[in-house]
Amino acid sequence: RTVYVNGEYVAERDARVSIFDRGFLLADGVYEVSSVLEGKLIDFPGHMGRLKRSAAELEMALPWDEKALLTIHRELIRRNALAEGMVYLQLTRGSAGDRDFGYPDTDTPPTLVLFTQAKSLVDSRSGSEGIRVVTQPDWRWARRDIKTVQLLYPAMAKMAAKAAGADDAWMVEDGMVTEGASNNAWMLTHDGTLVTRELSHAILPGITRAVVLEIAEALSLRVEERAFSVEEAQSAKECFVTSASSFVTPVIAIDDVSIGDGCPGEVARRLRAAYIEESRRRAI
Ligand code: PMP
Repeated sequence: RTVYVNGEYVAERDARVSIFDRGFLLADGVYEVSSVLEGKLIDFPGHMGRLKRSAAELEMALPWDEKALLTIHRELIRRNALAEGMVYLQLTRGSAGDRDFGYPDTDTPPTLVLFTQAKSLVDSRSGSEGIRVVTQPDWRWARRDIKTVQLLYPAMAKMAAKAAGADDAWMVEDGMVTEGASNNAWMLTHDGTLVTRELSHAILPGITRAVVLEIAEALSLRVEERAFSVEEAQSAKECFVTSASSFVTPVIAIDDVSIGDGCPGEVARRLRAAYIEESRRRAI
């Protein structure tokens, strides 16, 4: 695989980042994952807009504009002949060559790393069969709206889900679902209203979430952006999650309680198909 590190395209075994990099020592970094269909990027401006915001919230320099970042993404897709999968981008504050909590001088070069990951996204088992989730206390930090590389807790939550025989975890705070460990959480009430939590510091503003909200509006579905409890989701008509790499994926059980008839819901399936169609149309 060819990867990108600080201005160079190199074979992955030749890629080098300092052990003093703040991304490595302090998780002082942000990231984005953009999906690729038929060799083209999905929701790219949305992902780069969020990257810019994450960096700004952390006073981290981002000396590449959207056009330069698009060129790097496209070059990696080309060099790796990627038809379907993801491009991962990570930006860290770099390092002044020592371990220090204080931010280094603003002229310290940041570290930018990108790599591709081939994966079947449209025809995935979870997409067609749905996933089972278990709830976990949301013990992440209080600025989940910033897409940082501090992913130890989500990794622990996913391992707990796996140990319980489930596929993924939903995070719960004060009895209310915040979001999935790596996706946004949705439910459909029995009167046909789509519900997903409102944006705040408590959740990541999902790019897929925003597009699905647009699609739902175009399909004249009723939508409410508000918090919902685990019990409300368990007794909902349908549940699903959204993310760049899972698109719209039905949730068929929460803590071993089946949702609806225990099969992927009709609205989730429609939204998944519509999202894929719209993404293909908008891909660049
Ligand atoms: N929430 C969290 C915690 C995530 O890690 C992700 C995946 N990046 C999402 C939501 C979904 O965001 P997006 O649709 O932009 O992939």
